[in-house]
Amino acid sequence: MSSSFEDAASPYLKGLPPYRHGRLFEEGGREPVSEDWVKLDYNENPLGPSPLAVKAIRGVLQGINRYPDCQGHALKERLAERLGLSAAHVALGNGSSELIDLCARCFLGPGIETIMGDPAFAFYGRVVQAAGGQRVSVPLKAFRHDLQTMAERITPRTRMVFIGNPNNPTGSCVPPHDIAAFVEALPEGVIVLLDEAYREYVPDALQPDTVGYAKEGRPVIALRSFSKIYGLSGLRIGYAIAPPDCITLIDRARQPFNVNALASAAALAAIDDVVHLVSSKRLNEAGKRYLYQAFEELGLRYAPTAANFILVDVERDGEQVVRALADRGIAVCPLTRYGLSTSLRVTIGTPRDNERFVSALREVFSTH
Ligand SMILES: *Cc1c(COP(=O)(O)O)cnc(C)c1O
Repeated sequence: MSSSFEDAASPYLKGLPPYRHGRLFEEGGREPVSEDWVKLDYNENPLGPSPLAVKAIRGVLQGINRYPDCQGHALKERLAERLGLSAAHVALGNGSSELIDLCARCFLGPGIETIMGDPAFAFYGRVVQAAGGQRVSVPLKAFRHDLQTMAERITPRTRMVFIGNPNNPTGSCVPPHDIAAFVEALPEGVIVLLDEAYREYVPDALQPDTVGYAKEGRPVIALRSFSKIYGLSGLRIGYAIAPPDCITLIDRARQPFNVNALASAAALAAIDDVVHLVSSKRLNEAGKRYLYQAFEELGLRYAPTAANFILVDVERDGEQVVRALADRGIAVCPLTRYGLSTSLRVTIGTPRDNERFVSALREVFSTH
């Protein structure tokens, strides 16, 4: 009898396993809760949330018996002002993950193809499948999106192209002029989903003209997140930047109160917390240099990153290394499910986190 729900399920969900983080020691269903863990597995901000965001949440707590503003006016206006766009160019989501899902629901369906890199953020493939679409994977070239081949794979059935920029799990960016050329050459009816969850970490010279695309009405939907540099992962809030007719479509597909009041208030405060933003970026740059040097000393190859995490090839069974690190209280992300069985993805942490990670890694290497 227990299989009747499975039989009744949408055919698109067949064969789609529930989402799980790659973290191996979750197998027993338990998350590490000890304060003592060095958490370098989710690309979170190791500095913590913006203190201004925490204060803003306290200020609105007494009002949570009320529904939030279903349009998210205040935050949209503030974001638009910062970007030099209008609020009609901005959609809010319960994390940028929700916006990825909404875009799939807005544009995909049976027989419709979506092109993405391989490896790419695992969630892209899931939403495409859940929307009944077809996924077309194009291997990265030297850890970067191969935009040339991606363009060649476009057919009349193609509706969407995912470009994670920086890409997760590689941390790599494609140069802005390559993205511009790709967008310029897009056939009618093909939309680029430019995932910029790590935008604030990206060096200026590598930042594509996302706002320009929205202004010019290009078929580009850029997605940004408050989960990464702003340190608000636990609240779930992100936003999309796109031409107004696209934003209207997303608005039609979403549920009425998709962004909660605490998240909006926190985001509104966090975008103006320059001190938190600058120190987070500085910490990341210093940690990046430290880890690059440590990997070089260990003779390990890594992908140069434009984000707050690094893909490193440990030249051994990656899952075993992840497990051995977990035994030492260090959480990093294995990449077996991305087909990279000897690599792992490590978030750049505080100096203390990074040192503990490197010394644990040395210890593991001496025994494996
Ligand atoms: C973390 C991440 C996101 C989404 O984060 P949200 O918490 O849903 O805003 C989206 N894309 C990539 C590539 C990410 O790494």
